[in-house]
Amino acid sequence: MQTTFGTGQATGESTDLAFTDPLTGLGNHRRFFDKIDRLISDRADDPAPFTVGILDLDGFKPINDLFGHKAGDEILIQVAMRLRASMDSHSTVCRIGADEYAFLYPMVFSEEAAAEKSRTLIEILSAPHDVGERTARLSASVGCSMFYSGDETTEILVSKAETALYHAKRSGRGRVVVYSREMEEAAKRVTRIEQALRRAVSAGEVEPHFQPIVDLRTRRIIGFETLARWTDGDLGSVPATVFIPIAEERGIIGPLSQLVLRKAAEAARSWPKDLFLSFNLSPSQLVDQNTGLHILATLDRTGFDPRRLEIEITETGLMNDPASAEKIVENLRRVGIRVALDDFGTGQSSLGRLREFHFDKLKIDRAFVSSILDDRPSEHIIRAILAMCEGLGMDVVTEGIEQEAQAERLVQFGCAGGQGFLFGRPVDADATLGYLRDSFRGALRVKAI
Ligand code: C2E
Ligand code: MG
Ligand code: MG
Repeated sequence: MQTTFGTGQATGESTDLAFTDPLTGLGNHRRFFDKIDRLISDRADDPAPFTVGILDLDGFKPINDLFGHKAGDEILIQVAMRLRASMDSHSTVCRIGADEYAFLYPMVFSEEAAAEKSRTLIEILSAPHDVGERTARLSASVGCSMFYSGDETTEILVSKAETALYHAKRSGRGRVVVYSREMEEAAKRVTRIEQALRRAVSAGEVEPHFQPIVDLRTRRIIGFETLARWTDGDLGSVPATVFIPIAEERGIIGPLSQLVLRKAAEAARSWPKDLFLSFNLSPSQLVDQNTGLHILATLDRTGFDPRRLEIEITETGLMNDPASAEKIVENLRRVGIRVALDDFGTGQSSLGRLREFHFDKLKIDRAFVSSILDDRPSEHIIRAILAMCEGLGMDVVTEGIEQEAQAERLVQFGCAGGQGFLFGRPVDADATLGYLRDSFRGALRVKAI
């Protein structure tokens, strides 16, 4: 007979292989579910709360790639040992996924205590891990859910902990989130948006808008960035910052991207031939080898010259699977597509990455521009980035320019390209044509549409 309490490893319990993770010797997901089932039935008469948590290692995949799979396994074992050592005699830890561990705290009764315990686990894991001669540092995110009444099943508790973990991951590395009702509401809203978005993508209802990118000195337009826009009948206009992450997480970004690129390329065919079209690729698209094929097929079908296309990628896109990203980018570059590093200065901004990976252009994030006029550090950082780009032979565009004074300062620093509300907000294809006509004061012959 199994006991409900105990770590599940050293208490003389069944070591049935079906319940054990062979790599770490911890219980597996079946053991974990079984433990919760038993605890729920134990608490049938006295429903004292308890805590279920899921811990996920942040950025484990790059570590695995960097140090090799054997070292990756070694780290997973070390993590397991640390977690096991930190459990008291009531608690259980299991490994329920590749880099996912789950714990059960029968004696943790409040959300505050659950968060506190989880933070301790993250701290324990943050000390360096030995990998042969080297050391690796890890962070982890945790989602917890609380059992409050006999109505909750094991599946519900685990699914709530997963929802909490999802929120923790979304808010950054090393976070703890305990499940709340608001989260349930947020989760429902995400599902609603996802369903509406799926429908909109199949109905072709996501539209490209275009924001001008200018030569800062002459103020001439040199190209446009494509930004996806979507208005739903019920939900109204949903910001890109909301629907793009949902499209990425729920696997809709591929078809969405193809739709927007096709429409954008069709629109851009009517522009003067020296203007480029810039297009954002999501990190998840850079691990899918079909991305490159789809882009090339779309250009082919629309007859858009690949040498006029620029793709914008972020560092996150390169971190997940650098080898895959490089292969995709190489294939695109081969036909003349240029590659820009977007949002530079916000993520990890690894200078090493700029050495390994060749970019044609770097886009300085608008976070720096907003403070450029009254903040010396931002000024120094922008100057340093500009000098670096010159040395590396990369073009530069500074994003988010809203004031004339910011543009002038950037020109003084020697920044060639700029983008921002000062020069134009993103507008649809028709308005873009109008904008082009105005900007070129009739000198430009654009085909009537
Ligand atoms: P991003 O690629 O960095 O795009 C620039 C964002 O800054 C856009 O937000 C743009 O509207 C906004 N912006 C431009 N100038 C200014 C300014 O002067 N001030 C301020 N405050 N904001 C400015 P938007 O359109 O909401 O897009 C947000 C993000 O969503 C984009 O950031 C991009 O990462 C993503 N996104 C948009 N469209 C697509 C798409 O078709 N595919 C993919 N994969 N991602 C997209
Ligand atoms: Mg962009
Ligand atoms: Mg950007």
